[in-house]
Amino acid sequence: MTGTPRDPSGDPRRRVAYLMLFRIGLVSVVFGSLLMLSWWSDSALGDTSTRLLFGLIAATYVLTVVYAVMLRRGTDPARLASLQIAADLAIASVLVHATGGAQSPYSFFFPLSIIGAAIIWFRTGAAISLSASIVLYVAVSLLGWWGILPPIEGTIVLPSDLTQVELLRALALNIATFLAVGALVVNLAGQLARTSAVLETEREGAAILRTVHEDIVRSLAGGLITVDNNGAVLTINDAACEILAVSFQASKDKPIQNVVPALGAHLENLGPRAVVRRLELTLDSGEGDGRTLGISITPLLNHQDGVLGRIINFQDLTELRAVERRARQGERLAAIGRLAAGIAHEIRNPLASISGSIELLAAAPAEADDDERALMDIVTREIDRLNHLLTDLLEYANPRPRQAVPVEVPELCAAAVRAFEKDPRAAAVTVRVDPGDGDAPLVSTDPSKLEQVLWNLLRNAAEAGASHITIATAAAGDRAIITVSDDGPGIPAASRDRLFEPFFTTKRHGTGLGLATAFAIITEHAGTIEATERAAGGTEFSITLPIHPGGANS
Ligand code: ADP
Ligand code: MG
Repeated sequence: MTGTPRDPSGDPRRRVAYLMLFRIGLVSVVFGSLLMLSWWSDSALGDTSTRLLFGLIAATYVLTVVYAVMLRRGTDPARLASLQIAADLAIASVLVHATGGAQSPYSFFFPLSIIGAAIIWFRTGAAISLSASIVLYVAVSLLGWWGILPPIEGTIVLPSDLTQVELLRALALNIATFLAVGALVVNLAGQLARTSAVLETEREGAAILRTVHEDIVRSLAGGLITVDNNGAVLTINDAACEILAVSFQASKDKPIQNVVPALGAHLENLGPRAVVRRLELTLDSGEGDGRTLGISITPLLNHQDGVLGRIINFQDLTELRAVERRARQGERLAAIGRLAAGIAHEIRNPLASISGSIELLAAAPAEADDDERALMDIVTREIDRLNHLLTDLLEYANPRPRQAVPVEVPELCAAAVRAFEKDPRAAAVTVRVDPGDGDAPLVSTDPSKLEQVLWNLLRNAAEAGASHITIATAAAGDRAIITVSDDGPGIPAASRDRLFEPFFTTKRHGTGLGLATAFAIITEHAGTIEATERAAGGTEFSITLPIHPGGANS
């Protein structure tokens, strides 16, 4: 997905390689034609200048190999190119001198070095090489003609063979050719330079734009998937992979039906230009753990308004919906709690008078008969029951921790278990506390309140008929987690939503206040409590509480 990193030296290196190819190609053509010519006329091979020419061609091949090695070894391409062009000019000068000076048929080697220089340095290179070519050509021609440069041994065509007029004509013609080629090359090189500069800027611009675009898509907090018109996934960003719990490799180019079946089914019924806002979709537990997604779908259009596919943009609403649900539940429970507390207060005083009166009656000196005593016992017993209920109700309505102190969670659980084991209901169950293997987390609480919560959970499990209960503690981030799991019958789905409601009970003599009180206490501690069905059967209550600032106890 990322653009290839640009090697800044890549371009000049490539141009130097072009120059070498250009030279070797040219020399090979000359070499080939000379071979053909000599084979045809089987004469020319013998003379010195032809042998010299072959020598220079061979030298060019050898030099090219040397250049290639240097380029490989990392020699600065610009310096290597100047070396090559200087060598080219030197070879051209020797060749021209050996084949008759100004009249040499090989004077065209000079303009070729102009083209070579233009490949590397554009306009400037062409201009410098043009001037060097003219100076060298004129110098070699004149020096040869005057005899200052001695003719090479055994050559047939000598520079001094020319008359003055022939010399001047050859010079003029060749210089004109050099200039014409030079002008053309300088012009073309200028254009080439401009085009490559523009191309370079545009390539850089496009690369930057692409990276920025990719960075944005990658960094989006929401999921973003694009699909083509057949529903195959074109792109999928990191957030989408994370939310859907799929990998990039497993989704790219795959039909969206396979990646997110629920979404795929929805897309099938949409027209190509359909726009969907605020679609809420709950995934099956197979894909992304039953997450709730808030989805919007828009067509993916090109600049001519043609439909290329769809853009699917989504947020993970699972957490939000859970928080909303808990908040609603909390509000409902708080309202019921206030009502209950009001009633409890109202009943408590008359109940106290009734109970006082009955005590007086029972203690009256006048002998009551047995029937009357039995009735008074019933009244006393029922008053006791009512008093218990009222205590529970007030407990529920007033979950505030009285004095919060930092407490080690495993220690707290152990204390709750010790208290519970004194209860006759505990006789049939074994309770195990698993303190986890990390540091013991600390929470800030009134220990008696949290013990009460645990005690309620233990008692419920025992009453449900469990034989083993495990209390496990752990720390995850800034939360302490306590899970209480039993191997009882579990909780029917129909009851699960109402568990924490006050007065919800399935027991004949239950008050339905145990879990309601637990919920109120945990909420008061800024914690959460949830009941889940265990895969192995039975119920698991999990409580999370904020860890006391100061962290886990080590
Ligand atoms: P009570 O114990 O007075 O019935 P609670 O609020 O403590 O009230 O519990 C409410 C209901 O939740 C219980 O009546 C029972 O049906 C169910 N329940 C609670 N804990 C468990 C458990 N561990 N296993 C099965 N059912 C449970
Ligand atoms: Mg209970």
